[in-house]
Amino acid sequence: MRAMREQGGGPAAAVYWFDGDPRWRPPEQVTPLTAQVEADVCIVGGGFTGLWSALHIKRLAPQAEVVLLEREFCGAGAAGRNGGWVNGFEGDLPTLVERFGEEAAVWLVGASSDGLDDIGRTVAEGGIDCSYALNGGLSVATCEAHLGHWGDLIPVSRRLGLGDHFRMLSAEEARAVSGCPQATGALETRHVGSVQPALLARGLRRLAIEAGVKVYEMSPMTRFSRTRPAIVETTGGTVVADRVVLGMASWLAGVPELRRTLFIIPANVLATERCSERLDAIGWQQGRPFADARTTVHYGQRTYDDRMVFGRGGGRLGFAGSIIPQHFHDEREALEIAGDLSGMIPAMRGVGIRWRWAGPVDRAQHGMPWVGSLGKQGNIHYAAGYSGNGVGPSHFIGRTLASLALGIEDEYATHPLVSEPPTWLPMEPVRYVGALAVRRAIKRCEDAEAAGREPDYVSRQLRKAIGVSMPKGVQVRRSRP
Ligand SMILES: Cc1cc2nc3c(=O)[nH]c(=O)nc-3n(C[C@H](O)[C@H](O)[C@H](O)COP(=O)(O)OP(=O)(O)OC[C@H]3O[C@@H](n4cnc5c(N)ncnc54)[C@H](O)[C@@H]3O)c2cc1C
Repeated sequence: MRAMREQGGGPAAAVYWFDGDPRWRPPEQVTPLTAQVEADVCIVGGGFTGLWSALHIKRLAPQAEVVLLEREFCGAGAAGRNGGWVNGFEGDLPTLVERFGEEAAVWLVGASSDGLDDIGRTVAEGGIDCSYALNGGLSVATCEAHLGHWGDLIPVSRRLGLGDHFRMLSAEEARAVSGCPQATGALETRHVGSVQPALLARGLRRLAIEAGVKVYEMSPMTRFSRTRPAIVETTGGTVVADRVVLGMASWLAGVPELRRTLFIIPANVLATERCSERLDAIGWQQGRPFADARTTVHYGQRTYDDRMVFGRGGGRLGFAGSIIPQHFHDEREALEIAGDLSGMIPAMRGVGIRWRWAGPVDRAQHGMPWVGSLGKQGNIHYAAGYSGNGVGPSHFIGRTLASLALGIEDEYATHPLVSEPPTWLPMEPVRYVGALAVRRAIKRCEDAEAAGREPDYVSRQLRKAIGVSMPKGVQVRRSRP
């Protein structure tokens, strides 16, 4: 199958990270849960959130009994399907200052950035071959209007002593390193980079098992009780656990208490044939990912074997937070993205696209993750709302969940991202219709800006609705899962 892709033909509806990278292999042994077991902590979800939570818990409390349940195999969700950009919260600095104040914002940026170093140490010490490199990331403005995208970031970061994180590039410099002839400038963020995410997830799974975590795959949770201890049921067994960590990302939208907190939208990704000469010509380097400044962001990286992985945020919405087949594969979106690539980076015109895939994204109204708790017993914790930016932050969030699960009252358990859901979405069908209207308005605005025109008034007003919250209103019923 792999050889066929190298010879040409249309792109395969498959994930390059799993299907095209010979370093990735399915797990040799998958153990489903078939009995009742007991644990101090039961983690649900084997993506980066679940795996980092498990590893942090074992580092902090090696004797703790930790069980991890995964409905497919570890990394099968967004963790193994993403674009591989690795960053902390540095780009969110102005938003963090506005929401939580300067001191908390500086701490969050520093702690998330330190997390990237710990990912590097874990990868090196654990012998995980996943092309993890932090050579700086490039956000390119592709029109005049996008130069304003970074607004307060540079002055605020300088004022708070974090100016070294960033460097502004002139239009000429931006063109030389992006391949975008229309670039009007760029922001280089120094301490960020890229990874082969499926290999990272696979490596973290191995380290978790070596640390004593009992990993049960092909074991979907079907329900959990809001009791202490909690009873977590799967299709084949039960876990009785003092604490529960829900690391289910987009699937959390199916939990009744969280139904009005997340939009589920996909991101779509392509991988090309090998094209080292083209990548050299446009100045792309491994470990130095690319993005533009759109809300429906385009992003990409050069892989270890000299392919371009290129994606775009956004796609078909799931009604009432549902995950639909188009959140995993969507040919129409893939075709559009291939067109975007040719338009944005002319040197890539005619390159063979070999793989196309998508994955569900847990989009929060304000675009930032939070860590919350469910039930009256205070023993069920979850993280949600990465909004397409979770590869690096999941290390920090996993550390936070570890403190909460172990009852450690440190700075991780008490930072301001540990909160109630910060926003409530409207009920359906208002949410779906409203989100579609906002999404179309964003596209109209960004297309107009790319063409050097002022977006129309209605579209501009609708675009602002992206951050609007509703009252929580009626209490939702607690049922399954
Ligand atoms: C296409 C795409 C591109 C992206 N690009 C980037 C990027 O370049 N950079 C970046 O930082 N972020 C990116 N993201 C976001 C990033 O991948 C996620 O935020 C990150 O992986 C978070 O991991 P997670 O563990 O929370 O979620 P996931 O990896 O989705 O893990 C959730 C896990 O829970 C399991 N699960 C769900 N329900 C159950 C159940 N009932 N029982 C048991 N298990 C269950 C799922 O199978 C899944 O494995 C992208 C996302 C997508 C989809």
